[in-house]
This record gives sequence, structure tokens and C-alpha cells, in this order.
Amino acid sequence: MKNDLFTLKGKIAVVTGGFRGIGKTVARYLADAGADIAIFDLFEATEVANEIKNEFNVRTMSCVCDVTDPDQVKSCFDKVVSTLGTPDILFNNAGIGPHKDALEVSPSEWLKVIDVNLNGMFYVATEFARRAIEDSKKASIINTASMSGVIVNIPQKQASYNASKAAIIHLTKTLAVEWAQHGIRVNSISPGYIATDLIANVDPVMRKEWTDMIPFKRMGTPEELAGAVIYLASEASTYTSGCNVVIDGCYTVV
Ligand code: NDP
Repeated sequence: MKNDLFTLKGKIAVVTGGFRGIGKTVARYLADAGADIAIFDLFEATEVANEIKNEFNVRTMSCVCDVTDPDQVKSCFDKVVSTLGTPDILFNNAGIGPHKDALEVSPSEWLKVIDVNLNGMFYVATEFARRAIEDSKKASIINTASMSGVIVNIPQKQASYNASKAAIIHLTKTLAVEWAQHGIRVNSISPGYIATDLIANVDPVMRKEWTDMIPFKRMGTPEELAGAVIYLASEASTYTSGCNVVIDGCYTVV
């Protein structure tokens, strides 16, 4: 029998989009489970990293990184390896979610969403995997997809977001198969509506429409995603790869 099935002690985790929202909260829970934390974000996240270090007594660092820029991604991973060591866990989470009618979305707006949500996740995942393979590490990637990759939310219009998240779910399965031989597991979580800055400015009437449609009759919190990420990052899930864990208060069930 394995003890401490869910511990992440001795592991090093990279969290993208960790300056705030889901990334910040999950980073704190990964640290609570024992992992050292490297935060990548568009914003300088030194303060977040320091807070986590002081609260959980783990090693932390931050790196300013636009995930759409492969050179920045590479240099941030170089910094993680030289500061903390080769990472074992990737919470690949940075994303954006604009609402706009498909007929009004310009080509550059479309490309921006695909670039951050899909291409960025691919650049980060491949850079992470290269390091893990070079170091013969058994590693785990958890991509943040969305229930919008499984169903089409209403009433908002968000074709680029939905398409990017559906692609993440299939990219997750594809990389899980491709990297199984290297001992790298790749899974995704698909949150439903989670109360973060991403949806803070949404019209209250639409927010009410959303919550009325959720069988739980409320949005989720970032904390309610952390357990799934810890499970997928830990020894508790060593036979689990290519899965998409939907965490949505039953929204997609009905
Ligand atoms: P937030 O907007 O609160 O946080 C996202 C973080 O990612 C921000 O710090 C943001 O920086 C950062 N970020 C954005 N673009 C980039 C980039 N190019 N490179 C690096 N970092 C970047 O969003 P959430 O925490 O709510 O969302 C996190 C993930 O969860 C996203 O992938 C989202 O699609 C997904 N999700 C969220 C749901 C929700 O209801 N909240 C539901 C389902 C999925 P900045 O502030 O500068 O943009």
C-alpha cells in the first residue's frame, strides 16, 4: 500500500496564469500538498510567489511569460530548471475568454484567442515535456480546458473560446497517447462557471441566467478545482491519462 498517495512533496510545479484566478488558487493548494511552485504570467508575480513561499514553506519563483511567445516560454523553463530543478508537474492554465458574435469577430481577434488558449498551451506543454524527457522524469500535465469545449454555452457568443477549448481536450488526449512511452501523463480539467476576474464584468442579468441553468444553482470557486488538479498531479492517478475531468455543478449533465 502506498502512503501519502496525494502528497506532492519533493515535486516542482509550473503554473501558468498564476497571477490570479484559478491559477493562483490552485498554485496555493499545490504548495499546501508540498510542491515547489513556479508561476508564469503576463504580470510579474513575485508577490504571489513570495506569499506562497511564506505561507507553505516551499521554494517558489515567478517568471514573466507570454505563453504565446515560444522564446519567452523557453527562457522561463530555463529559469525554473536553474532555480528549482526540472519540473514534475505542469498546470497549464493561462487563458482568455472574450464574448463576441462570430459574425463580428475580426481575424486578429480570432487568432488572439486561439494563440493564447491553444497555441500557448501547446508551447508550454512541449517545452515542459522536453525537459522531463531529458531528465527521465515521470511527469504530469494538467491542462485547463472548459465545459465550453464539451457543450455550447448560451446566451453568450464565444465561438473562438469554445473551439479553442474543444481543441485543448483533444490535444490533451493526443499528447497523452504520444507521451505515454515517456511516462508523461496528460489530462485536462473542464471547469463550469467559476467566479473569477475572467467573468467578473459579465452583465448581472446574464450571470443570473447562467446560475439558473446550473443544477447546483451557483457558480463554482477556484478552490473546488484544486482537489482534481492535486489528484491528477499525484501518485494517486498513475494509470490516468488522456482524461477530461468536468467540474461544473452538473451543468453539462442536463
Ligand atoms: P483570470 O482572467 O482570472 O486569470 C487568467 C490569468 O492568465 C491572468 O493572470 C492572465 O493575465 C493570464 N494570462 C492571460 N493571457 C496570458 C498569456 N498570453 N500568457 C500568460 N498568462 C496569461 O481567469 P481564470 O482564472 O478564470 O481562468 C483560468 C483558466 O480557466 C483559463 O484557461 C480559462 O479559460 C479557464 N476557465 C475559466 C472558467 C471560469 O468560469 N472562470 C471556466 C472554464 C475554464 P491577464 O490578467 O494579464 O490577462
